[in-house]
Amino acid sequence: MAHLDEHLISQVVSEVLTRIRTVREGAAPNAASPASNGEFGVYEDMGAAIEAAQRSFEKLRKEGVAARRKAIAVIRRMCVEHAEAWGRMEFEETRIGRLEHKIEKLRICGDLVPGVEALERVAFSGDHGLTIIDFAPWGVIGAVTPSTHSVPTLTGNAINMIAAGNAVVFNTHPGACRCAAHAIRAYNEAIHKETGIPDLLTTVVKPTLETFDTMCRHRHVKLLCVTGGPGVVAAAMKTGKRAICAGPGNPPVVVDETACPKRAARDIIQGASYDNNLLCIGEKEVFVVEKVADRLMTELEAAGAIRLDATQIEALAEKAFVFPKGKGAGCPDPVVSRDLVGRDAAVLARAIGLDVPEGTPLLFGETAADHLFVEEEQMMPFLPIVRVRDTDEAIARAVEAEHGYRHTAVMHSRNIDALTKMAQVVDTTLFIKNGPCMTGLGLGGEGFLSFSIATPTGEGVTTPMTFTRSRRCVMVENLNLY
Ligand code: NAD
Repeated sequence: MAHLDEHLISQVVSEVLTRIRTVREGAAPNAASPASNGEFGVYEDMGAAIEAAQRSFEKLRKEGVAARRKAIAVIRRMCVEHAEAWGRMEFEETRIGRLEHKIEKLRICGDLVPGVEALERVAFSGDHGLTIIDFAPWGVIGAVTPSTHSVPTLTGNAINMIAAGNAVVFNTHPGACRCAAHAIRAYNEAIHKETGIPDLLTTVVKPTLETFDTMCRHRHVKLLCVTGGPGVVAAAMKTGKRAICAGPGNPPVVVDETACPKRAARDIIQGASYDNNLLCIGEKEVFVVEKVADRLMTELEAAGAIRLDATQIEALAEKAFVFPKGKGAGCPDPVVSRDLVGRDAAVLARAIGLDVPEGTPLLFGETAADHLFVEEEQMMPFLPIVRVRDTDEAIARAVEAEHGYRHTAVMHSRNIDALTKMAQVVDTTLFIKNGPCMTGLGLGGEGFLSFSIATPTGEGVTTPMTFTRSRRCVMVENLNLY
């Protein structure tokens, strides 16, 4: 009963704060807002969401690792059970990507994201006594999630962060906040039933830049974890708080003359068409050596991808990129058009007056190495193919196209020297050899999953350990066993 009352109190406090704010701002209450009174983690007010997460963090600390295990088990079970419904909800809210992949991305969180078993402990025993190092929680973590995989990212973050003993407040993408709030509420309700802790995951109904700012400044938010493009990474790094940043990528693929063109084509299509190329690890441009270039493109066609000619590629580029202040006038920096991001290949084709079968996985075509489709993270199922002289040129161009994001690169080759050279030179967080990109996150490759790959800040594919603080405890001249 005790935890029920606490939850009731937190709801009342949240409701009062909301009403005060509404009166102060003269704003009409948002009738459409679901659970605006703070029901199971979804709050109108960012301050209230953080205070609630802090209370639940303190409760989790008291309940110990056993409660972490229970909460994680609930999340694992629910993300599998609700994968279909929540995947559909996210798809309907964002209208980007492919439904079957939205569902799969949630389902795989169930067993590929590590939990408390991944926490390490270290001990030093010797003449001077015993020292232990424990990996402790930070408290409340402020997390930002992308539109490209809203519920999967928050699910992976939740498992990792709770495993490390933290609570989380999310500022989700405004275009994918309803599905996120729905999942957060459902997770919390079930976790509460199991552990008596109501608000381990919280969020706001309407995430904005202001709620992001409030989250970053709040005294209870001790650590940030942002997943998104360059804007949010720069914003998080300016806050003065420690930020784990899972930033943008533009993964290049190198195919050399020793690769199996059929297998490379199959893998490239699988990776680049997954969720319509929304994955930050997804293949975004290919550098293929002259000797096998034609063969690779023939195999891409044989495996179902559709080749565009030069005129069609230019027509698509016109639609795919916008220049905010007018092309060539004032702002030369292109931005990917939100109308085509994550849309089906058939939709891209229709945009340039081309009719292709609805199930077409990918469009591709030959371009120069400095084409916009090579330089920009297009996040849509058109893949530029660049023909190069030899492997050295392919690697050099791949490094350029990766822009130093240190995110992901892929190579298809059976030449150990070439694979080793690219691995060393490209210096990315993920380097995948002879497979599609998703093998780098445990889907068809060995290893574990997280949708937050901390690239500029160097933590790599995040785990529970990423969200801990190292604490050392020293006993002098005692407690050693010899
Ligand atoms: P986005 O950058 O538009 O938005 C990501 C999140 O950041 C959203 O919640 C958004 O509201 C917030 N945001 C954006 N600018 C902000 C600012 N100036 N201040 C505060 N918050 C801000 O990205 P998106 O389109 O949602 O996602 C795609 C991008 O995310 C791609 O660049 C992709 O590579 C990257 N991504 C990276 C990883 C990774 O693990 N490294 C994973 C997924 C996506």
